[in-house]
Amino acid sequence: MAITLPAGFQDMLPDDAEFYRQFVALAHDVFSRYGYRSIITPHLEVQDLFVRGIGQSSDVVSKEMFSALSGENMQKLLAREEIRSKSKLALRPEGTAGVVRAVVEHNLVPPQSAGVKLMYAGSMFRAERPQKGRLREFNQIGVECIGPSSPSIDAEGICMLMRFFSALGIPETSMKLFLNSLGCDECRPAYRQQLLSYMNAHIHELCDECQHRLHLNPLRAFDCKNEQCAAVMRNAPRLSDALCSACATHHQTVQTLLDNAGISYELDTSLVRGLDYYTRTVFEIQATDSNSAQNALGGGGRYDKLVEEVGGHPTPGFGFALGYERCKLALEAAGVASHVPPSCHVFFALADTCLFKEAFTMCEQLRSKGFACEFAHDAKSLKSQLKLANKLGARMVVVYGENEFARGEVLVKDMQQHEEHCVTHSTQALVSYLSAHF
Ligand SMILES: [Zn+2]
Ligand SMILES: [Zn+2]
Repeated sequence: MAITLPAGFQDMLPDDAEFYRQFVALAHDVFSRYGYRSIITPHLEVQDLFVRGIGQSSDVVSKEMFSALSGENMQKLLAREEIRSKSKLALRPEGTAGVVRAVVEHNLVPPQSAGVKLMYAGSMFRAERPQKGRLREFNQIGVECIGPSSPSIDAEGICMLMRFFSALGIPETSMKLFLNSLGCDECRPAYRQQLLSYMNAHIHELCDECQHRLHLNPLRAFDCKNEQCAAVMRNAPRLSDALCSACATHHQTVQTLLDNAGISYELDTSLVRGLDYYTRTVFEIQATDSNSAQNALGGGGRYDKLVEEVGGHPTPGFGFALGYERCKLALEAAGVASHVPPSCHVFFALADTCLFKEAFTMCEQLRSKGFACEFAHDAKSLKSQLKLANKLGARMVVVYGENEFARGEVLVKDMQQHEEHCVTHSTQALVSYLSAHF
């Protein structure tokens, strides 16, 4: 029996994989204009990194992490009751923690330095129940700016992400930007107390999960999809009303800079994002055409405590991530092409198979001149070769026939204009003819 993919995983077939490659290239192009450079970190990290970085109370860590044991001494480890935490590995559920770990480990941001701007692209993993629009391995692109604390970094990052989505072709009317502030160590604890007493007063109206979260991270209750919880949380005190003056100024500056850049947004005081590490700015861009619950195209925020959490010097940070699969759905909903068909400039066809070697040599010559060429490898009838050329989207077909070839020529068929001309069989003549006709 044939072996098939496990549930929740998918293959990226050529039309899609090619689109993904261009998607990542476009992100590099846009983000590098803002000074972001690539970093590549492993898919596997020590599990503690995510527990400490993302937070034990987040769904990602408590329910959705793919865990593994370090391969060496696996049998010995399994036999032991207490497995050393260093031997527990996890497939990365998100990109930020690994990048921050690398920044700390390689001291990319020494004290007093200007900081570092990094971008990544790759697979992330969540061991959740597979459902529509949610994969166990999915693709994300993200950036992290570690060092500066200025609100202009937050505003710049948001502008950059909106610019990327526009460059991708998602219409502005199909997206909405939501913005909030989650405060800092100065203002959050007092607010937390205020929220706790409010939630305690309504404890019997909250779902089990929210009752449990109450002690870990009560803010997460704003994210609860339960109707009754949502009703309770609608009247809960908001952090935006309890920000310290530094946080309030930061929040206001981000808004002013976005206003000046002509980026529209909506303040959403219930936006908390799923991860525990955010401080001050959080934002999310949602697809408005989507009728699914999974409509966030991307989002992120400031994480001024995370570097310290991972073991570095206290260093502020800001970042965001965007989901490739979600963006693809948004493009499809907006009627924008989200796949790349095969591209072939010139197809080399054989009317007479005895000219096989001459055609092969010329095909190789034209490739060296920059043309995307395909060759009739398993040439059958000329008709079937032309059919294949059409399927490959070939713009021109060079036909090798004995009569023309005896005169030192080949027949070049323009598949769009439905014209054909005899052209001298030399690299130079073919290059100049093709260049003039593309
Ligand atoms: Zn504050
Ligand atoms: Zn709830």
